[in-house]
Amino acid sequence: MAHHVFGQSFPNLLGCVCGLHGTENEIDVAVGRFDAGGDWTAALSPADLVLSPAACYPVYPIAASRGPVPAEGWLFDVAADCFRREPSRHLDRLQSFRMREYVCIGSPDHVSEFRERWMMLAQEVASDLRLTFRIDYASDPFFGRVGRMKAVSQQQQALKFELLVPLRSEEQPTACMSFNYHRDHFGVTWGIADASGEPAHTACVAFGMDRLAVAMFHTHGSNVARWPTAVRNLLGFPRNDR
Ligand code: ATP
Ligand code: ZN
Ligand code: MG
Repeated sequence: MAHHVFGQSFPNLLGCVCGLHGTENEIDVAVGRFDAGGDWTAALSPADLVLSPAACYPVYPIAASRGPVPAEGWLFDVAADCFRREPSRHLDRLQSFRMREYVCIGSPDHVSEFRERWMMLAQEVASDLRLTFRIDYASDPFFGRVGRMKAVSQQQQALKFELLVPLRSEEQPTACMSFNYHRDHFGVTWGIADASGEPAHTACVAFGMDRLAVAMFHTHGSNVARWPTAVRNLLGFPRNDR
C-alpha cells in the first residue's frame, strides 16, 4: 500500500489519535457526560499524531533530509507496528499489525533490480518455510472512483506483486508479502534526488509478520513441537527430544 501519500489514496483507512485536550473543567464535563451514560466523544480533538499505515512511510522524509542519493543508492531495513482502520473478524486482517520492510532508493534500474531480486529471494524463503504460495499482480484498494482507475493502472504497470498463501481458500488467498515499485512518486513528493537533481525512484518489499505467523500455524499445525525438523532448525527452535 505504499504507492501514494496515504491520506490522498486511503483516507478511509487512516488512524488518527484523539485526546481530551480541554481545560480541567471541560474534561470534567466530558467525564461527567460519560458517567451519565451520554456521549463524551464530542469533547475529543486530534492529537497531532497519525498512526503509520506502513513501515516504509517515515523513511522517505528521513532519506530526503540526507541530501543527494549516491550512485550506489540506499537500502533501509525497517519494522513498525502499523495501523489500518479495516476491522475484520478474520485472523489475517488486523487493525494493528507488525510490518518489516526493505526500502530501496536509487536509479530506476537499481530499484527495479532490487525488487526483482527480492521477489526471487522471498519465494526461496517461503519454500524453506514449506508454505504453499503463488506470486501474482496486485493493486491497492485506492479510495473512491478515481481510486478505482488508479488501481487498474497500477495493475497494468505491474507496480505491485504479492506473495499469496491460500489460508482461507484457494480463491481468496492471503497476501503475506508485497513487492512494490513506486517509480518516482516518493522521490517527487519528498524531494529525494540524485546529484544531478533527477528524482529518485523507490521500491519496498514488505513482510506481514502476523500473517506469516498465521500461515505457519495454518500450514504446520498449532503444536510447534510437531513442525518439520527442517523448518524448526531454520527458525532456530531448540532441538526436539521426541
Ligand atoms: P491486502 O490486499 O490483504 O489488504 P495490502 O495490499 O493492503 O494487503 P500492503 O499494503 O502491501 O498489503 O502491506 C504489506 C503487507 O502487510 C501485506 O503483504 C500483508 O502481509 C501485511 N498486511 C497488510 N494489511 C494487513 C492487515 N490488515 N492485517 C495484517 N497484515 C496486513
Ligand atoms: Zn512500503
Ligand atoms: Mg489492504
